[in-house]
This record gives sequence, structure tokens and C-alpha cells, in this order.
Amino acid sequence: MIMNSRKIVIIGTGMVGMSYAYTLLNQNACDELILCDLDKTRAEGEAMDLNHGLAFSGSHMKISAGTYPDCKDADIAVICAGVAQKPGEERTALLQRNAEVFRSIIEPLMESGFHGILLIATNPVDIMAQIAHKLSGLPAGRVLGSGTALDTARLRYLVGGYFSVDPRNVHAYVLGEHGETEFVAWSQAYLATKSLAEICDTSHGKFQKEPLYAIENEVRNSAQKIIQAKKATYYGIGLSLLRITRALLGDENSILTVSAALNGEYGESGVYAGVPCILNRQGIREVLVLPLNEKESAQMQHSCHTLRELSKNILI
Ligand code: NAD
Repeated sequence: MIMNSRKIVIIGTGMVGMSYAYTLLNQNACDELILCDLDKTRAEGEAMDLNHGLAFSGSHMKISAGTYPDCKDADIAVICAGVAQKPGEERTALLQRNAEVFRSIIEPLMESGFHGILLIATNPVDIMAQIAHKLSGLPAGRVLGSGTALDTARLRYLVGGYFSVDPRNVHAYVLGEHGETEFVAWSQAYLATKSLAEICDTSHGKFQKEPLYAIENEVRNSAQKIIQAKKATYYGIGLSLLRITRALLGDENSILTVSAALNGEYGESGVYAGVPCILNRQGIREVLVLPLNEKESAQMQHSCHTLRELSKNILI
């Protein structure tokens, strides 16, 4: 891949989109960045603001506000646009409205001739990724959601804290829906190559499983806790999107838990859910199937069933 051709379009320049944009600038992760939003003035203001920091950033990024025709030759289009839940509104009604938002975005995006990778952050991210796949007609491997990448980062941070180990040496994954029914595959959780179960069993009571289950709950409830404290979450997802972007543009073949179309993996089909995937310049090279135990397999089944039920009445 030619390094000077890294072009990213962000559609939806709210808190999530711009947190991601700021990480791209800080880490010099692309060469051209286009900001699109229904509110064009906002996108223009955001482009100006970022450009004014360029002199201090160590980056030569070309940043501008743009429209759909500018997406034609983008390597990745990242959708962070969405409408928020109205008071008293049901989740399925929100879903229907966001499906309409996606139609208004993906139709002109595809008409531009865009043929890159579509990365979705809008919630509920698994269902929105599935909708994006249907609307775009792109191969499933080129449409992915941020899935449980952020949840997995939260898990590693908390587990690392419990064992006083660098989170980068924690190998553990949150799987399934990015939401209520997500779960940790504890049978596949390790510090280096030593399983957490074995570490607990041989620690003479120093480390126990109950605090780990409390961590799982904390991960599940993190977004709500942050939203209660500061109304929205954006830095963590911004960095998660950056990590996914690096894996894709850098042709890294890195493993990240993104929302991917399941086609028989984990015994599931016709659904997008968070699973470990090998990511490279083509998108999702492969879904990695972990050897889940019986309880975890049932949790995966429940999570996918919930996602299928939620998405089945959406008209697109
Ligand atoms: P926000 O309200 O700050 O920004 C949304 C932006 O979308 C606004 O600028 C709005 O003008 C734009 N928009 C709305 N409709 C549009 C359309 N048709 N075309 C183009 N732009 C349009 O919201 P936010 O805090 O940035 O959150 C964005 C989304 O990201 C939400 O769905 C949120 O739930 C989700 N999110 C996902 C994760 C994750 O882990 N996947 C984490 C945090 C937030």
C-alpha cells in the first residue's frame, strides 16, 4: 500500500467523530481527512479547528470539510452519525430512525463510487453495521462495526489493574453484542500464556474469580456510568476506531474484536456481532473462532438471538 494514499472520510462530526479525528491527527494515522456532516457549518468549523493545530502536530495531514463526491477514492469511510434517543422512545423506534439516517448517508456514499472499507461506530453498532452492509452492497468483509473493541479495552484495563499487570499483556475478549448481552470468554483469558483460572486457582486466595465477574459487570455498565457522569462517551471509542484504522491501513493482520458478519462461525448466521477478527488492508481477513465452553457458547447464542430479534422488524 502506498503510504501517501491514506484517505479517510468521517461522516458525523459530533463528539465521537471528532474525538477520532483528533487521534488521527495526533498519531499521523492518515494523509487526507474529509469531514462530512448534515450540519455543514459544524464540519467546516471542526476542519478549521484541527487545521489550526497542524503546525504543532508533526503531521502533514490534509484536512477539509467535504461532501459525498469527495468520498469516491477514500480508503475508509467511518460513520459516526446518528440521532439520539428521544425521552420515552423505544430502542426499536430509535433503530428505525437511525436506519433512515444510514439510508440518507450510504446511498450518496455509494453513488460517489466509494469502494473502500466501511467502519461503523453509530449505536446500536452491531445492527447498524448489518444495515450498512445491506444498504451498501459491499462484501461483508469490507463492512465492520467497532463492536466490542472498546469493551475489550475496558476489560484489559480493569483486569490489568486487578493483577497489577500491563493491560497490553492481558489476553481476553468481550464477545457478542456491544451492549447488555455482551460477555467475557473467561475460559480463554490469559496473562501472557497463563490462564486467569489457573492463576486464581494457584494463588492461595490472593486472586479470586468473583472480582473478575464484578469486572465483567463493570465493563458492561461502563458506558452508562460515563454517560451519567458526562452525558456521552467519546475518547475511548475515538482511540478504538484509531486502533482499528491502523490495523486496516497498515495491513497489520492484527486481531481485534470488531462487529463482523457471522456466516456459520460460532454456529451463527445472518447477524453482526463482536468477535475476534484478523484485520488487514482488505478489511476482515478472517473471523477467529475461540473454543468457548458450554456456558460461553450459550451466552453467544443468546446475544446473537437478541440482536436478530432487535433487527428483524427494521424496514430498510
Ligand atoms: P453527536 O450527537 O455528538 O454527533 C452526531 C453527529 O451526527 C452530529 O454532528 C449530527 O449533525 C450528525 N448527523 C446526524 N444525522 C446525520 C446525517 N443524516 N448525515 C450526516 N451527519 C448526520 O453524537 P456522538 O456522541 O458523536 O455519538 C455518535 C454515535 O456514536 C451515537 O450513535 C453513539 O451512540 C455512538 N457511540 C458508539 C460507541 C461505540 O462503542 N460503538 C461509543 C460511543 C458512542
